Amino acid sequence: MAMEFIGAETRMSQMRKDVFTGRWVIVADTATVRPTDFRFKKFVRDAAFCPFCETNEASTPPEVFAIRSSRSSVNGPGWSVRVVPNSNPRLRVEGELGRSSEGFHDLMNGVGAHEIIAETPRHDLSLHELELHEISDVVRAYRARIIDLEGDKRMRYVLIFKNHGEEAGAHTTSHSISRLMALAVTPRAVKTKLMIARDYFGLKERCIYCDVLQQELKGRKRLIAENDNFAAFAPFASRFPFEMVIFPKSHSSAFSRISPEQVGSLAQILRAVLQKLDRTLGSPPYNLWLQDRPFLRPRGGYWNTIEDDFHWHIEILPQIVRATGFEWASGFFYNPVPPETAARCLSPA
Ligand SMILES: [Zn+2]
Ligand SMILES: [Zn+2]
Repeated sequence: MAMEFIGAETRMSQMRKDVFTGRWVIVADTATVRPTDFRFKKFVRDAAFCPFCETNEASTPPEVFAIRSSRSSVNGPGWSVRVVPNSNPRLRVEGELGRSSEGFHDLMNGVGAHEIIAETPRHDLSLHELELHEISDVVRAYRARIIDLEGDKRMRYVLIFKNHGEEAGAHTTSHSISRLMALAVTPRAVKTKLMIARDYFGLKERCIYCDVLQQELKGRKRLIAENDNFAAFAPFASRFPFEMVIFPKSHSSAFSRISPEQVGSLAQILRAVLQKLDRTLGSPPYNLWLQDRPFLRPRGGYWNTIEDDFHWHIEILPQIVRATGFEWASGFFYNPVPPETAARCLSPA
């Protein structure tokens, strides 16, 4: 979507380096951005037949996980969260990896898991409109699927993400869902973070995420929300306007070890920041994803400090401006809204 900055007064931009990825971002010095500059149209859902709605359970592959009432039966109505394999998967769970090469190029079979997590039985609600106990069930479903897939020795990593709104990639359904892909390789974006966190730990014997979190909690100028167990803030080198991260306050490398108390806290802060986004910008499309550590297998090629040096977190990226040739070619980003301004807009005093 094209964006205009009415009344924005630009002085000198800054180049900022992201400590977690080493990526550079050009951040505009635009102190006078108003949230009304970014108003989005209300998200409209289609009324076509939806396989993820309650009572349409027979239209999906059989469920692999569900949180449902004790009186309900498997693959029937009466659930709050339901996980099913994708009927048109990008990766398939059957078969061997079959690693091979073609000259210089490595390849392997498309083995993995591709699942859909229906966050609610209702078609008319978004994640941030659910009750806290319902969002807690979504978090529990994430954890249950990760723990289950960790048992599959072929898998290295589980990526859980969400596309909200068509501009964020939600083309196939307007039902509120998360997507899960179990992968036989660790994604490059995660590997970069892992290696930088390991190097920092090697130097300082501290977790880089814990250190940055302490600084953000002290400075508070990029802080968006906080509760007993989590903090949400706009990263110092935000790539896009209104980008957010959620960090657990106590150090943990693995999302699957989230405590029952943290589940409720995560649901609370997730709902809070997504509601802020919705209130401030009027239902923008966004992507959300979990950055967890890979599965630690014996002889898996990973270092033994990973439990101490990596810190799981969630990233939320509103799709307000598109990447252009500059971003693709350079790996840099240009962000017209400083994260300090974004945090101020999202947390009105
Ligand atoms: Zn639906
Ligand atoms: Zn940490």
